[in-house]
Amino acid sequence: MAKRIFQKPRGTRDIWGEDRKYFQLLRDTFENVAEEAGFLKIDTPSFEDTKLFVRGVGKETDIVGKEMYTFKDKSGNSLTLRPEGTAPVVRAYLEDGMQSLPQPVSLYYFSNFFRYERPQAGRYREFWQFGLEVLGDKSPLVDANVIATVSRIYKKLNIQNTSIQINSMGCPACRPKYIKLLKKFYAGKVTKLCADCKKRYKTNPLRLLDCKNDKCLALQSEAPQIINNLCSTCHEHFKTVLEYVDELDILYELNPKVVRGFDYYTGTVFEIWNVSDGAQNSLGGGGRYDELIQTLGGPSVPAVGFGGGVERTIEEMKKEEVGLDFPKNVNIFVAQLGSKARKKCFKLLNDLLDAGIGAEARFDKGGIGDQLKIASKLGVGYTLLIGQREAFDGTVIIKDMASGNQEVFPYEKVVKVISKRLKST
Ligand code: AMP
Repeated sequence: MAKRIFQKPRGTRDIWGEDRKYFQLLRDTFENVAEEAGFLKIDTPSFEDTKLFVRGVGKETDIVGKEMYTFKDKSGNSLTLRPEGTAPVVRAYLEDGMQSLPQPVSLYYFSNFFRYERPQAGRYREFWQFGLEVLGDKSPLVDANVIATVSRIYKKLNIQNTSIQINSMGCPACRPKYIKLLKKFYAGKVTKLCADCKKRYKTNPLRLLDCKNDKCLALQSEAPQIINNLCSTCHEHFKTVLEYVDELDILYELNPKVVRGFDYYTGTVFEIWNVSDGAQNSLGGGGRYDELIQTLGGPSVPAVGFGGGVERTIEEMKKEEVGLDFPKNVNIFVAQLGSKARKKCFKLLNDLLDAGIGAEARFDKGGIGDQLKIASKLGVGYTLLIGQREAFDGTVIIKDMASGNQEVFPYEKVVKVISKRLKST
């Protein structure tokens, strides 16, 4: 019988090599920006009580309706691999007593999420998001500050081709009235909609506004806009958010079609779009969710959040060729000839590593030629060679890989000499 080679589940990825470097660069940049702005890191469990998402994200959303990885554990509890980060953070805020801390509480995460979606470019079944949540402050300044922090993340990553799209989704006082108006507009036009939107008309009419189907796009531009139907509180709040964002010279567009796919949003919503090559996919999105904490059984606590897609952001970093100058962790190769030299090289390799100097060797290769080929492939700056003669003399040859120059040093001096040379390059 042929041996079976296992494959990863559809829609998942192995992250290694160059991808891993981008991943780390994004993670470090994001975490620095968040920490400097006073956010605290939070890691929540990978799975939660299914009801947390059903209640928090909303029964009629695509996520809860079609995309959750839900299972029963051996005790019969219904659990779900987290499909998003906000509901778990709110659960932690309530359960861990964060209300007793000075408000607002600003948290950030960098975590993996799971959605049973149709895999395609930029869409996976396990993906990563970097997120921010600020709980306990209703000021429009917080909305603007989250938008500013997000904008700073993309700036620090040197990503140019982004556009911030902002809208308001109203509150329980004005949104139902707007939805009625929207349904009235679409009432005689349902047959002109795509199959998904025919369903959305009944279950989640706001989503009619962000369908990308050609049939639906034409109608969207004529549909009434929520921005013209906000109550005075929402109108005032939104106006102030925009004034604060203007204060920072952050470029944005008002976009009445940004409605987000979750039920919990109230007021300000925004998305970061990738606008390179005419593409318009969303790199991330967020907004205010003043009702969610109550929906999940807590008191009335206003909050704002954001979730950015790691894979899509990395794709854009690659496209724009940002962050290509990754610092080299290994700049030294240690090569040997003969069994006595091998032992000395093994010690030299470990002396280098102990001194914090990245180094590699291939002890299974006997020939110096083979080892030098590997050293060039690795692109190291220097190869340190110990042959039979050097092993006997207690010396080491330092070969500068760029010039080809070779110099001999006593073993005891080599780590110091190399350390000095690496510092000066
Ligand atoms: P959402 O939580 O749906 O608002 O998504 C926020 C961001 O996460 C999106 O803008 C995407 O960049 C990213 N994202 C969402 N779903 C996926 C997925 N299935 N695969 C990869 N990235 C995703």
